[in-house]
Amino acid sequence: MTEPRIHVLPIESPAPWRASMPMENARHWISPFESEGDGAPVSVFLKQSAYDQAVVHAATDLENEVGGVLVGKWCLDFETARQYILVKAALPARFTQQGSVFLTFTQDSLVDIHTKIDAEYPEDAIVGWYHTHPRMGVFLSHYDTWLHDHFFPEPWQVALVIEPHSEIGGFFIRQALGRIDPSRYFGFYELEDEPGQSRVHWKNLQPLSEKAVNKGEDRNE
Ligand SMILES: [Zn+2]
Repeated sequence: MTEPRIHVLPIESPAPWRASMPMENARHWISPFESEGDGAPVSVFLKQSAYDQAVVHAATDLENEVGGVLVGKWCLDFETARQYILVKAALPARFTQQGSVFLTFTQDSLVDIHTKIDAEYPEDAIVGWYHTHPRMGVFLSHYDTWLHDHFFPEPWQVALVIEPHSEIGGFFIRQALGRIDPSRYFGFYELEDEPGQSRVHWKNLQPLSEKAVNKGEDRNE
């Protein structure tokens, strides 16, 4: 008769933060799977410090998978009605490792993470997770997809996969109906601390000039 009221997973913010997309100093990196007008329903804005944290962690073990969670905010730009996440930090998680192609979030590591978020990012939520695929490429395995749906079920939660050997990476983002394509990844917006000072070195992403695109649209009006 009534909806179940028991929440198994931590309760995230029920509504997005209303904030304009931080396009100032944002460099748009696109993947080979993206073209104009073919983006994901949720855009990713990644602070350089968070990118650095993930990349540094990824390089600590080139044989086994490592990973953690992405912390930040789920946002809605009211003017454009576009959703995005603002990723402020990549927090390494301790995993039970059972070989190089298998990793999981243990209960202990989740408790650790939530304690850290409560202390250091009290206004923020877990907006996704990241992990590495040493010598395997950028995709989501069946197990990764299961883990994503099990631990990160919100439509706006994303999965970042990093291949530390060939220095490539990409975000997996759910489509409007909640489906995720395990072989199609997206780029992101790099939030530069200083204008023009990019730190992204992943070879599979290309910078897109958003300003040039906007100018083109203006001319057509
Ligand atoms: Zn994986």
